[in-house]
Amino acid sequence: MRIIDEVKHARTIAIGGHIRPDGDCVGSVMGLYLYLKKVMPEAEIDVYLDEPAEIFRCISHIEDIKSGINVEKEYDVFVALDTTDDRLGDAEPIYRRARKKINVDHHISNHGCGDVSVIEPDRSSTAELLYDLMEPEKVDEEIAKAIYIGIVHDTGVFRYSNTSPRTLQIAAELIKYGFDFSKIVDETFFEKTYLQMQIMGRAVLESVRFMGERCIVSMVSRRMMEFYRVTPKDLDGIVNHLQSVKGVDCAIFMYETGTLEYKVSMRSNGKVDVAAVAMKFGGGGHVRAAGCTMNGTYHDNINNLSIEIAEQLKNE
Ligand code: AMP
Ligand code: MN
Ligand code: MN
Repeated sequence: MRIIDEVKHARTIAIGGHIRPDGDCVGSVMGLYLYLKKVMPEAEIDVYLDEPAEIFRCISHIEDIKSGINVEKEYDVFVALDTTDDRLGDAEPIYRRARKKINVDHHISNHGCGDVSVIEPDRSSTAELLYDLMEPEKVDEEIAKAIYIGIVHDTGVFRYSNTSPRTLQIAAELIKYGFDFSKIVDETFFEKTYLQMQIMGRAVLESVRFMGERCIVSMVSRRMMEFYRVTPKDLDGIVNHLQSVKGVDCAIFMYETGTLEYKVSMRSNGKVDVAAVAMKFGGGGHVRAAGCTMNGTYHDNINNLSIEIAEQLKNE
């Protein structure tokens, strides 16, 4: 399938991704936006997404993103990337109204929610999958850069086991466009502000291991976020850091989103299928990286997650 064959008759196109967008989400949404603007100059194309983190300012035309907007418009086509329709946030009603819905994703928990769905769980990232739906000769430096950012973020800079030979081939094709990939990796993936580093330190300091030291958990409360003057976007990477503790099979990180409400992120080395755990609580993701929202006290949530994790480790 080529994405262009699915959208070429459209006069109005909307593109969207999941709430609290990560690098893959921002990279694929912007990559597709820049690509369609180039190959379909007559079409009216809009991007709906929660405001991306500051680090993604290096992506061309990122300022075109419409955040927190509720329009009555009926688009000919809506392309939902890196997500299911129920995580589109403000764009969900716009998606539902669209005449044709296209869903491109790599989450194993997504069973496809479009008139056309391309779901490939073996792909490292939606950005990688999207690249293979484009005509390579139409890609340019700015499109390449957006896609590269998507791949880099979902593979932890080509480190996670979702990295395949195809991922690296695509990355090789992308860096031929000549953008400063090393700077992009440093500035969007590794670099942290002092306050981000401090709250990460605090989360690590207060982490607790359990289940025979095979699991690790930590939490950031709203009060802590206020104290360090950080927002949820500043907490990215904490759960990965916890997962890199020697001997840990499963890392859990939560931050408070409301009264008795937590956003939960989980990472595993493959021994625990965290997507299956997250799905039990209405979330989803991948075997080694998944998330959900949970209601209850911090300790109740740990208990409930532990039951599912222990069940899996028992059957190991
Ligand atoms: P997170 O730790 O929240 O960044 O999520 C890790 C992975 O799981 C990412 O690929 C997310 O897109 C996915 N994910 C997180 N929360 C959910 C959810 N509620 N439903 C489906 N996938 C999710
Ligand atoms: Mn994502
Ligand atoms: Mn992704």
